Amino acid sequence: MTAIWSVDTEAFYSNAKKVKNQQPIMAVVKNNAYHYGLEFAVKQFLRAGINTFSTTSLKEAVRVRELAPDATVFLMNAVYDFDTVRDYHIHMTLPSLNYYYEHKADLRDIHVHLEFENLLHRSGFKTLEEIQQVLQDHQQNKNSERMIISGLWTHFGYADEFGVPEYDEERSAWLNVLHTLLNEGYQFDYIHSQNSASYYREGQVVLPHHTHARVGIALYGSRPYSDLDESTIQQALTVKANVIQIREVQNGDYCGYSWAFETQHDNTKLAVVDVGYGDGILRTRAQHEALINGKRYPIRALMMSHMFVEVDEHVHAQDQVVLYNESMRIDEYTFKGVGANSEQLSAMNHDSLIKEYR
Ligand SMILES: *Cc1c(COP(=O)(O)O)cnc(C)c1O
Repeated sequence: MTAIWSVDTEAFYSNAKKVKNQQPIMAVVKNNAYHYGLEFAVKQFLRAGINTFSTTSLKEAVRVRELAPDATVFLMNAVYDFDTVRDYHIHMTLPSLNYYYEHKADLRDIHVHLEFENLLHRSGFKTLEEIQQVLQDHQQNKNSERMIISGLWTHFGYADEFGVPEYDEERSAWLNVLHTLLNEGYQFDYIHSQNSASYYREGQVVLPHHTHARVGIALYGSRPYSDLDESTIQQALTVKANVIQIREVQNGDYCGYSWAFETQHDNTKLAVVDVGYGDGILRTRAQHEALINGKRYPIRALMMSHMFVEVDEHVHAQDQVVLYNESMRIDEYTFKGVGANSEQLSAMNHDSLIKEYR
């Protein structure tokens, strides 16, 4: 028996369709599609009518190009391997004024999307004036070998935060940049800004003048914020393990390494379960429950490849122990403070868990 990470393909696909909501979506497939598997995810998104993808690594962008020959593939990080970007028809961010002036010539025939920095400060042009400077310099550049300006974009750092003004601030700063440039007559084939949280905050639609919403986590089955009803986004992932045996311990017994759990009652039943932090179960997640035969039981100690779950007489050796499924969702634990949705997903150890697509 080994713990299993499994995805229900039809549930994943139908969630993607529901998230898409007939809107133009650029699916974020970074980090091996949030660890769902790049090939699997791209296939299902294509099936759901999504034909635009973005990622952070050139290696993944090339892989997406191979999987989706007709798609638009957008690389959100600037790279320096210009030939590969060009050869695979990958669109790339233009991340700063410095980068532009240094690599103007290298960028010939490459589709770039100009990035506005905003409150995250991770990348992008600092101001509207910097963007205007590039647009003007590019217009005056009579060299036939020059980049192709295809897009304009930004990334919100606060769309997942409520009760603070930052999202409204970054949203209006961006819309001001966008509207000014459009009023000046500039045109872009791709205009995108919204992550999952922003997409849902705006009513599951793309903002005016935008060509795409750049959605990640919702496509992978987790709600970006807790106000959304569970039925709006469906989780297709199950992570489950097995009861190896049941141990009975007495009041005052310490169980697990270094007094991890002190037994409070005589005849306490502990299920020894074959999954642990070595498989990617976060210590914060182990402060909550596991689901056995449809009932939630408290996890009492977490070890590398085991955990103790305090159970009752209804639990037996070989019973299945669910850590995540459609009723015990990643996002539930996000809102309980376990860690971000993507953090819980990323923690999973795909080398030790058995991986199944149903
Ligand atoms: C990860 C990422 C997204 C997607 O964010 P979600 O919250 O998962 O929807 C969008 N844009 C950029 C630049 C990102 O890095």
